[in-house]
Amino acid sequence: MNAKDLSIRLQKAAEFVPQDARLADIGSDHAYLPVALMLQNKISYSIAGEVVVGPYESAKRQAAKNGLENKIDVRLADGLEAVELNDQISAITICGMGGVLIRDILQRGKEKARLSGKERLILQPNVGERQLRQWLVAEGYTITEEAIIEENQKVYELIVADKDLVQPDYTAKELFFGPVLLKEKAPVFIKKWQHKLSKMEKILTSLHQSDQDVTEKIREVILEIEWIKEVLEDAGK
Ligand code: SAM
Repeated sequence: MNAKDLSIRLQKAAEFVPQDARLADIGSDHAYLPVALMLQNKISYSIAGEVVVGPYESAKRQAAKNGLENKIDVRLADGLEAVELNDQISAITICGMGGVLIRDILQRGKEKARLSGKERLILQPNVGERQLRQWLVAEGYTITEEAIIEENQKVYELIVADKDLVQPDYTAKELFFGPVLLKEKAPVFIKKWQHKLSKMEKILTSLHQSDQDVTEKIREVILEIEWIKEVLEDAGK
């Protein structure tokens, strides 16, 4: 396998990994990302962490098939328990999971002292981006880069976070859209939010018809609809 064999989503994550990094890829089903990066000579060492036996074995096979069993350490472990500070990991990738699950993996990793704070985090949540950004910002990370891509009719966001920088003050709106994505307003971003707007307008209609007390939810949805409209107007859409 090679970097070009990666999905567009994982290729984008690979681009954010610094040259010569010591990488931990958590949730490393098949170890595709570490193997591709190793074959490109982009990383010097990698841990591929997996919590489920089947994917863990696939990751081991993939590393061995590429003659990388000495450079990619495949470990069966829950989240960041695959990593020890002695491993001197400089970048962590967690891709293809919900944002809340990624957040919880990071939180447990922090509680169990598996994060030095020097690692670059490269995260690709499938959903729950806002909750993940909220955790990162509360923990003192700066969102240094973001990307949005479309693959097989699905839209994916990537979030890169680094600590030890002067952290900007993020607004709630920036954490909702992504501070970098909001500045860039790429065509895929616009498409995502046009689609989301029509979904949220339908949600609002059904909330108004609800016989339960959903006042707070209505307020929240109205605010988000306003934000989306503002952003689309700013982009001339
Ligand atoms: N990262 C790959 C990608 O983006 O294509 C695989 C994504 S796959 C949908 C998610 C993987 O994460 C599964 O193999 C699952 O077993 C693993 N996973 C889920 N929770 C985990 C955890 N707490 N620790 C380690 N791996 C986990």
